[in-house]
Amino acid sequence: MRYRNVYKAFVCTIVAIIFMGTVDTTFAADTEIISVRIGGDDNKTRFVLDVKGNAAFRTFSLANPNRVVIDLDEVNWKIGPGGAQGKGLINNYRYGLYMPGTSRLVLDLKSPVKIANSFIIKGEGGKPNRLVFDFAKVTQSEFAKNISQPAARAKAVTATRTPSNRPAGKKVIVLDPGHGGHDPGNLGGVKVNGISEKNVTISASKNIKKILEASGRYKVIMTRDRDIFLKLRERSLVAHRNNADLFISIHADAFTSPSVRGATIYTLTEKASDREAALLAARENKSDIIAGVDLQDEPDLVQNILIDLVKQETMNLSNRFAGELAPELRKAITVRKRSLRSAGFVVLKGIDVPSVLIEMGYLTNSTDAKLLMQKETHDKIGRAILKATDNYFQKNFAYN
Ligand SMILES: [Zn+2]
Repeated sequence: MRYRNVYKAFVCTIVAIIFMGTVDTTFAADTEIISVRIGGDDNKTRFVLDVKGNAAFRTFSLANPNRVVIDLDEVNWKIGPGGAQGKGLINNYRYGLYMPGTSRLVLDLKSPVKIANSFIIKGEGGKPNRLVFDFAKVTQSEFAKNISQPAARAKAVTATRTPSNRPAGKKVIVLDPGHGGHDPGNLGGVKVNGISEKNVTISASKNIKKILEASGRYKVIMTRDRDIFLKLRERSLVAHRNNADLFISIHADAFTSPSVRGATIYTLTEKASDREAALLAARENKSDIIAGVDLQDEPDLVQNILIDLVKQETMNLSNRFAGELAPELRKAITVRKRSLRSAGFVVLKGIDVPSVLIEMGYLTNSTDAKLLMQKETHDKIGRAILKATDNYFQKNFAYN
């Protein structure tokens, strides 16, 4: 056991936290992060995690943008909505489940840093243990020397199709709750009522799924059903693998002006329909970039399975579905004046399944933020989607 851990520490630069003289290798799913404290200034900053239980961690740095990543054995986060503003050298931080068994905390940096020191202070008398990280400002070239590649992430899905999943007579809809894990999505609602986009999208999607399945006409598969990180391509692969009939990505927007509210439906195009749509797509596409994932090893669905004709047909069907959804959504909830827009969303790209992305409203608007946390609103959106899917399948596939 001792040898294995020494080896592991050597090869993987895992920093094992040692309590009571022994290396704790038990899986500590009941470890809780109960608070975060940040102190210091723009030259030296201390980042402290209060931990109930034991935690093993490893750190690495990433550039473009500059980040420090702290990976922990899976923990429960008891510190809020998924991210918050930083202090000193830390712009902001975000956290969540990266993959089963590994939780991730990402510090977005104001300036390049080195980890001057990291250590643990064992809590006495029932007090929490403290995980302490000291950061010191360095030059960009010094920071660049310490950039390391994160360990490869286990493949969550494969491109192989499993048509046997398809229940007889039912259409398959894949619902994709946006963001998750250490990608909280937009935090525009945190100031309004303490909610992050990743939490809104998962709770809305669960209720929408119930409405669609209650009809008896649809089988709904979720790309994630808990607070876990998924790459954008992994999301569309769920639709491909399950031979889905529709893919619907669920999001909530943020804007500098708090008065802007209402839902928008987006489809994929090469050229964005307007500047706002282009900016939104750029923000949503950042999900993989901020996560620091390696995009090189993606199976190239576009090359392998999509010939232009299929792509065009898929885009036509996506637009037809969006066309059915827009009026239904307008009857159900507040939508933007221009409710149908298009842009180059990565999550909708390279997929051979008609797909749309719904921004359900603005978390930066207090009315929308309040409504988007209510089951009643999710049900209204669910019923609008149900009506739209019924119309869409009836009109386009009545004789299939
Ligand atoms: Zn989003």
